[in-house]
Amino acid sequence: MIIGALLTQNTNWRNVEKALANLRREGRLSFSGIRKSPLPQLEEMIKPSGYFRQKSQRLKTLSENLLAGGGIDALKKLSTTQLREWFINQSGIGPETADSILLYAFKRPIFVIDTYTLRVCKRHKWLEEKASYNQAQTLFTRKLPPEVDIFNEFHALLVRIGKNFCRAKKPLCQKCPLKQFLNH
Ligand code: SF4
Repeated sequence: MIIGALLTQNTNWRNVEKALANLRREGRLSFSGIRKSPLPQLEEMIKPSGYFRQKSQRLKTLSENLLAGGGIDALKKLSTTQLREWFINQSGIGPETADSILLYAFKRPIFVIDTYTLRVCKRHKWLEEKASYNQAQTLFTRKLPPEVDIFNEFHALLVRIGKNFCRAKKPLCQKCPLKQFLNH
């Protein structure tokens, strides 16, 4: 899941699945597998996910840091704040990727903000146009009970709204289930 979160940056999940399948087939779908893979071989395996040079270097560094620090079991012992900080300090991991890892891989109650969520919130004026990632996250954290399942479901629903209705251009407000919450 953590490897997938890094590979999914700037691409779609179908391409990530191809890269993950390559890693699995070669027995390298693990941090130790990535650490021992020569860089050119790793690049070849993750090529379908795009930006493969940058991503393979990041995956290697992440695997080395993670294993040097005691692996996943050591990370599980960290508080949510410490864990988030650990991931954000890794090369190529920003707030959205870190929060996805915390929510989906570590089951920590952290709300993930993405482009869809920001767009919906701004169009409904729940957030200002210039609102930051942290401001958006605070909005959901204040309004929702801090439960992993709720954060997970809520985020998934917002992504569906974003993909099916709240498109960047020509949003389909008339057919959208959130139409009733628009302030015209
Ligand atoms: S009603 Fe739906 S499509 Fe329209 S702005 Fe709201 S979320 Fe987007």
